[in-house]
Amino acid sequence: MSSSTPLNSTESAPSRAEEIRHLFDRYVAPTYRRSLVLSHGSGSFVWDVDGKRYLDFGGGIAVTALGHAHPRVAQALAQQASRLVHVSNLFHTEPQGLLARKLVELTGPGKVFFANSGAESNEALFKMARRFGQETGGRFEIITALDSFHGRTLGGISATGQDKIKAGFGPLVPGFVHATFNDLDAFARAITPQTVAVMIEGIRGESGIHPATPEFLLGLRRLADQHNLLFLFDAVQCGMFRTGHFQSYETILSEAGIDPVLARPDAISMAKSLGNGLPIGAAWFSSKVADLLGPGSHGTTYGGSPLVCAAALEVLHTIEDENLADNVRRIGRRLRSGLEELRAQGKPIKDVRGCGAMIGMELDRDPLEAAAQLRQAGLILIPSGHNTLRFLPPLNATEDEVALALQLIKDTL
Ligand SMILES: *Cc1c(COP(=O)(O)O)cnc(C)c1O
Repeated sequence: MSSSTPLNSTESAPSRAEEIRHLFDRYVAPTYRRSLVLSHGSGSFVWDVDGKRYLDFGGGIAVTALGHAHPRVAQALAQQASRLVHVSNLFHTEPQGLLARKLVELTGPGKVFFANSGAESNEALFKMARRFGQETGGRFEIITALDSFHGRTLGGISATGQDKIKAGFGPLVPGFVHATFNDLDAFARAITPQTVAVMIEGIRGESGIHPATPEFLLGLRRLADQHNLLFLFDAVQCGMFRTGHFQSYETILSEAGIDPVLARPDAISMAKSLGNGLPIGAAWFSSKVADLLGPGSHGTTYGGSPLVCAAALEVLHTIEDENLADNVRRIGRRLRSGLEELRAQGKPIKDVRGCGAMIGMELDRDPLEAAAQLRQAGLILIPSGHNTLRFLPPLNATEDEVALALQLIKDTL
């Protein structure tokens, strides 16, 4: 507003949205370009402070697996909060033990270390791999994929194969090298006598939704076995039933008619959807490496608190009780075919990738601009990479909600 604009009564009383934005401008570190001012949610919908409703198919970036304000999660939280929220990891608590057992049952024989985020879960994988390397000839190098994303800690950005994430934060943690995703020969060529592990995301989430091929998954498993390397798997975004199976390698391989156990990694990091918004991360270690991080070697004050573990357990039980893996496959097919149809009708959609509740729509334009237009129309999607918008709906989203998303895209783009 220019200084010559006369003040009137509406201008002198800022809206609640403006007041909250002002708090952020003034007091919150500007690490994010933020848009809406949100107030509450229910299922697949959120409302802003002015009462406008949005279909939230960004899911808090793949976090709200059961949508907003899910009654079972709310009840589990309330019950646990009135019993025991936190005690530290110097003690045993039942929710952490039960959740660890559940994750082992879902993944394979092994043990689980609990953290508070995806980046911290990856740190646990890196430290475990370094221990393994130390015990097997002093090796330390980890090969990750170009255009990968592994978190914002110093270890995480060092592992991330994107220069823009690393820029300005050197010196980085040594020991990470990058090779082209889905190119087994490139990974093989990057192996040196120092290499101890290879690490990938099952579906690259932050650079445009790119799934690993079955050949790449099987090949990395074989490569790791041949060279006594660990196969590390970052499932922070693509795991927890988001693709219709607990882990994306299971989806990718079973759809190709291959037994997923043949590519099972040695360690898997999880977070995001695991807690439906409660800050929890987990590192699953296969039996072979499950006891490498012994007492005193690694830790966390909050990780695996009874509160977040009770929430995560309830999320996993709800997914099972309501057969949401089936629902994910169903809504994923519907969304994919709907987007393909819009593409065939000449909408500016160049490609559709991914599966289940993790689908990318490549555009011919800046995804930030398209995301803003769709938000205006009442649909929240998340930009991914430089030309893609991603759908990360709750696993319990309905076919009607998918139809609404498709209609909004049809009307807007
Ligand atoms: C989000 C994400 C992370 C980082 O998780 P935080 O909880 O933000 O630390 C790591 N890896 C992948 C693949 C992610 O999508």
